Amino acid sequence: MNFPSDPVQNAVATAKLLINGEFVNSKTIEWRDVVNPATQEVIGRVPFATSAEVKAAIDSAHEAFKTWRNTPVGARMRIMLKYQALIREHLPRIAKILSAEQGKTIPDAEGDIFRGLEVVEHAASIGTLQQGGFLENVAGKVDTYTLRQPIGVCVGITPFNFPAMIPLWMFPMALVCGNTFVLKPSEQDPLSTMELVKLAIEAGVPKGVLNVVHGGKDVVDALCTHEHVKAISFVGSTAVGTHVYRLGSEHGKRVQSMMGAKNHAVVLPDANREHTLNALAGAGFGAAGQRCMATSVIVLVGKTQEWLADLVERAKKLKVNAGNEPGADVGPVVSRAAKERVLRLIQSGVNEGATLLLDGRDVKVKGFESGNFIGPTIFADVTTDMEIYREEIFGPVLVVLSVATLDDAIALVNRNPFGNGVGLFTQSGAAARHFQSEIDVGQVGINIPIPVPVPYFSFTGSRGSKLGDLGPYGKQVVQFYTQTKTITARWFDDATVNDGVNTTINLR
Ligand code: NAD
Repeated sequence: MNFPSDPVQNAVATAKLLINGEFVNSKTIEWRDVVNPATQEVIGRVPFATSAEVKAAIDSAHEAFKTWRNTPVGARMRIMLKYQALIREHLPRIAKILSAEQGKTIPDAEGDIFRGLEVVEHAASIGTLQQGGFLENVAGKVDTYTLRQPIGVCVGITPFNFPAMIPLWMFPMALVCGNTFVLKPSEQDPLSTMELVKLAIEAGVPKGVLNVVHGGKDVVDALCTHEHVKAISFVGSTAVGTHVYRLGSEHGKRVQSMMGAKNHAVVLPDANREHTLNALAGAGFGAAGQRCMATSVIVLVGKTQEWLADLVERAKKLKVNAGNEPGADVGPVVSRAAKERVLRLIQSGVNEGATLLLDGRDVKVKGFESGNFIGPTIFADVTTDMEIYREEIFGPVLVVLSVATLDDAIALVNRNPFGNGVGLFTQSGAAARHFQSEIDVGQVGINIPIPVPVPYFSFTGSRGSKLGDLGPYGKQVVQFYTQTKTITARWFDDATVNDGVNTTINLR
């Protein structure tokens, strides 16, 4: 595959660093291949930046902040307006690159970019959210007002599963609030992210305002500890997110970590059967289960246990194929290592006594025999002590538990440590209202399997799925990317006024 970013036609694409407005080749000796998970073809190379390169990126962001913070908000928003138009124009092309490096189907890759594009659209109208407040006359001729000021150099560290949407959750909102940024994309699939970064520069992001370094733990640790970095947005696994949160916090940074998940879907007997089963199959197996908001546990309440055979039939009909093949429903998982991990977890389910109703381990995809494919897999008779229930599998595997009542289901979900997403399928408003009130999960879908909020809200995963209070994008991220400054001021009509020395704390 030939990428426009590629300096040499028909050769593998080399991911560049972006430092101080220049796309540069890294001087590192440490490189990693970017591999098409359907074919094992090496389609790119990504450098692990040197510590000097990481420092240069942060220094460039630090320098650019001095002028960018004073660039009028309207000028910042107009860059986002241009950026969203460019993303829209290049979306089909970037979706192909994304599908090739990540594995997801072309329509799903387009969705990945589109959900990020929506954040850019929102960033183009941020002004009202960055307003401060004003209260006149808090004491005699004293007024108090707040400013929401940018905080400085912000860092984004992103996972492999949404190489478009998640970087776009981060830098557009940080930039439009007046911050500068250093992005560290996933080393597994950085090529589509870099295409989006190039468009941001084309849209007019000035030099130094957005920088990119690639790498792994060393680069991340350097970003989390540098004195000029003020805030860190992380999305990825629980283990790494916890590390980033601790390290960044210890070094005085503001950190938000969005992490792993185990999302339950609770099915009540009065649910619309067709809609529910279609939704469960789509949300469980779409993107090969590699979504942090994928449905991964189904909780069948009462008689809905009889629906299981129908779910298995629907799952069997899904077409497992390379992401760019027409009609593909389920692409490969991202790497051989990811496939090995999922296969190991499936075997653990068998060993621990769950009933394997549908086994996707031996799936064969004609023409793509070396791809990392796993077919839809369904376990019944699962108990909460089994590894397949406790671990985030991050593959096309659904585990099914059965309970007697809605309250049993709520108690089960609330005992699970994760809190990213949950779904309820019902036709009862009363049941839905009870559920939304009692369930201890940050994002709830009612007859919606993957309730990722649109950008005017924020991503609000909770409990074990998140560290830090404020979520990505929307109103919350404007708070995250800004510092409130409160000003209390008195202006005198008469320059000769003398109201004496006041030794109390009271304003008067
Ligand atoms: P990951 O944690 O392996 O990688 C995330 C980022 O951390 C990458 O940029 C990677 O280079 C870096 N990294 C990896 N190991 C590191 C280490 N030891 N020290 C410092 N940095 C390190 O995650 P992933 O496998 O790319 O993504 C999948 C995970 O992300 C899943 O757990 C999924 O649930 C989660 N996720 C969560 C959300 C959410 O919003 N809650 C969204 C998407 C993905």
